[in-house]
Order: sequence, then C-alpha cells, then structure tokens
Amino acid sequence: MDALEPDDHVVVVGAGLAGWRLCEGLRAHGFAGRVTLVGAEPHHPYDRPPLSKQVLAGRWDVDRVALAPEGRAGEIRVDLTLGVPAVGLDAASGEVTLADGTRLAATRVALAVGVAARAFATPSSGPLRTLRSLDDAAALRDRVADLEAGETVVVIGGGFLGAEVATSLAARGLVPVVLEAAARPLVGPLGEVVAGWLAGLAADASIELRTGVVVRDVVAGPSTWRVELEDGTLEGREVVAAVGSRLDLGWLEGSGLELDDGVVVDAALGAAPRVAALGDAARVVEVAGERGVRREHWQVAADHAETLARAWAGAEPSPLPATPYFWSDQYGKKIQLLGRPRPDDEVVRVLGPANADRWLALYARRGVVTGAVALSQPRALMRAKPFVDAGASLDRALADAPWEG
Ligand SMILES: Cc1cc2nc3c(=O)[nH]c(=O)nc-3n(C[C@H](O)[C@H](O)[C@H](O)COP(=O)(O)OP(=O)(O)OC[C@H]3O[C@@H](n4cnc5c(N)ncnc54)[C@H](O)[C@@H]3O)c2cc1C
Repeated sequence: MDALEPDDHVVVVGAGLAGWRLCEGLRAHGFAGRVTLVGAEPHHPYDRPPLSKQVLAGRWDVDRVALAPEGRAGEIRVDLTLGVPAVGLDAASGEVTLADGTRLAATRVALAVGVAARAFATPSSGPLRTLRSLDDAAALRDRVADLEAGETVVVIGGGFLGAEVATSLAARGLVPVVLEAAARPLVGPLGEVVAGWLAGLAADASIELRTGVVVRDVVAGPSTWRVELEDGTLEGREVVAAVGSRLDLGWLEGSGLELDDGVVVDAALGAAPRVAALGDAARVVEVAGERGVRREHWQVAADHAETLARAWAGAEPSPLPATPYFWSDQYGKKIQLLGRPRPDDEVVRVLGPANADRWLALYARRGVVTGAVALSQPRALMRAKPFVDAGASLDRALADAPWEG
C-alpha cells in the first residue's frame, strides 16, 4: 500500500489498543489528513490487561486504564465516533457503514476490532458473566465488592484469564475455585512440559484449581449459584466464565476481504488495496516463514499499530518484529513467553532448578531456538531474546548465554 496523501481520509474501526495507537502513530509520523476512529463501546480508548489484574483486585479505579487523557483525540485531530459499531464495509470503495446508518467515505480503512469473550452458557443459567470489556470489569468488581471475605466465587476456565481473575479475587479476601476442563491448564499455548511445571502455581498461592472438570449446569438460587459438576456440586456467591475468545467478524462477510480465523493480511498488514487489519483480529500470513497464527497479545497489537502507522504515514519503515511477546500475572507470579514455540517443541530449563519458583526455559525445534518462557525471571528472559530473534542453534544458546546474574 502506498503512503497516504494529505487529502486521504483514514477510518479506523475499533477504538482499542491497536486502533488508538494507530491514530497516534499516524500523527507522530507526520500524516496530516483526516482520521476518524469508530468504536463500538461508549468509552474512550482503554487498556485491557489491567482489567483482570489491578481493576478487579480493587487496586485501580477504572479511570487509570485510559490509553490517553480524554482531550488527546481532539489535540491530535482524531474525530471520535464512539458507542456506534461499524456494521458494513465495502473493501473496494472504502465505504464504512455504522449501525446508526452513517456512511463514512474512507480512502483507507484499518480494522482493529479485536475479539469478544467466548460465551459460556448452561441450560439453567444462559450465558454467564465474562470479562473482556471495561463494563464487564466494572460490573464484576462492583459485584464482588459486595461479597464478604471468605465467600466463594467460581471461575470457569483455568487459562491465563481465569488464573488472573482468581488471583485478583483472592487478593480481595474471597475464595475463588477455578474449574478447568483439561487435565492441566495452559497446555495449548505452552506445551505439556511447561504446563506441568506451572501446574502447582494455584496450590502454592492457596487457590483451589480443579482440573478435568465438566460443568453440567449452573443454577441461580436466592443468594448463591449452584454449580453442578459431573461428580458433585459446588456453591458460589458469583460465577464468572473465562473460557477464551471468539472473533466477531460477521459484519465483514461480503465485504470482499478474506476471513479465515481473522482478517487475513500480508506481512505489511494489508487485507485489500485500501484496507488493513491489525491487532487481535488480524491473522498475518508469511511472517518468519509461518502460515500465520493470530495472536491475542498486547505487544503484538502495539507492534502492528506502529508498523502500519509508519507505512501509511510514509515514515522510515519498521517491519513487524519477528518475536511475539506475551505475559500474564497470575497466582503471584509473572509468566512471560517470547517467540513462536509449538506445544510439541523440545524444552530445556536453562535457569532455576526443578520445582524452583523462578526459572527460564528455551523451546527448540530441530536444534533451533523457537522461544523462551520465564516464570518471574524478566531480566533473564530478555537475555534469551537475541537467541529467539536470531533463531540461534540451541547448542550455541546453551554454551554462550550468561543466564545467571
Ligand atoms: C482482561 C484482559 C486481560 C489481558 N491481559 C493481557 C496480558 O496480561 N498480556 C497480554 O499480552 N495481553 C493481554 N490481554 C490481551 C490484550 O489486551 C489484547 O491483545 C489487546 O487489547 C488487543 O488490542 P486490539 O486493539 O486488537 O483489540 P481490543 O483491545 O479488543 O480493541 C478492539 C475494539 O474494537 C471494538 N470493536 C469491535 N467490533 C467493532 C465494530 N464492528 N465497530 C467498531 N468497534 C468495534 C471493540 O469494542 C474494542 O473496543 C488481555 C485481554 C483482556 C480482555
């Protein structure tokens, strides 16, 4: 896609991290033309990671998650259209239709629409409470603030989000019980070996994690919920489901874009001559030789925004970083993942003995480093980054690296 001209009109759909950072980046890199940011939610752009951490734990008020002060959009001449989702796109012409019937004539469109929480419904309860948006977080926080210390909250799903929710509830003095369907959480993203090392984190934090659990039904009582499992029941004062995410791209069917586990984009984030996609909703093909995996990581969305802003504003290009990064704060520990490991990659612990509560490990495939994972070892993880970036040989990484210190 060519650089923008001053008479171009950029419409950014999705006022989350990627959408907002793109608007800021276009201005920072010199684009002076019109920019419109469309957001389905009524809120100014905000950051999601603190929602399950500081906000739910009661340490931050929701004001602190704002990505910028409210006047910032006006200062950088970004027209905000909030509280109205886009419902249609003609990729060829660039016309974006909003739910209130407004038609925006764009010369470039950026789709930064993220994902939604995957719903979890049972026969008696219908869809249960989830946590994706600021409104979800504020509602759950208000609800649990009314509970007494020691009361039980059932968390369905023991993945990254469920673990963070449980940790924040425990920080409030509540008693979370985490129900995980798999035999062990995090096997999908981290593989059996690493998931095994992490399996005791909940217990170490005195949080109950039940694995291999099938939830049959959730029934509302006068003041508690009864969670019916295959092998018993559980009472909780509140229930929250953290069972993953789903794409919400139905409105783009017929737009002319390729949709296949996300908006399919090339390594420059282009989806069509006038349209780019970025962040959680974009599946990038042909980065570092892989078919392309969609990643729902904060840093990846931020990197997408910077790369696209530079390209569109005609600034010095910055290709997408080859090494994705993700973190999660759970059970009093920080898990960090660098790179593109596959669950069946070899794993070598390079720092911290077995059963240590701080360690670093490398993933490798056919003798080549594919990733690094750390438990509460952020500095050591950064020492692993050059090896992951370069796809170094595992032997060299093991021989050369100053892992200690
Ligand atoms: C509770 C929580 C905790 C997280 N913690 C971490 C973490 O610790 N580490 C990490 O790496 N990542 C974390 N993430 C993931 C990270 O927040 C996302 O990767 C990041 O927000 C992606 O940015 P995005 O702009 O692509 O999507 P989003 O931030 O989801 O923004 C997309 C926006 O588009 C809007 N939208 C959707 N459809 C439309 C439409 N049709 N029209 C207009 N607007 C639309 C949505 O309402 C939303 O506001 C967390 C996510 C959540 C929910």
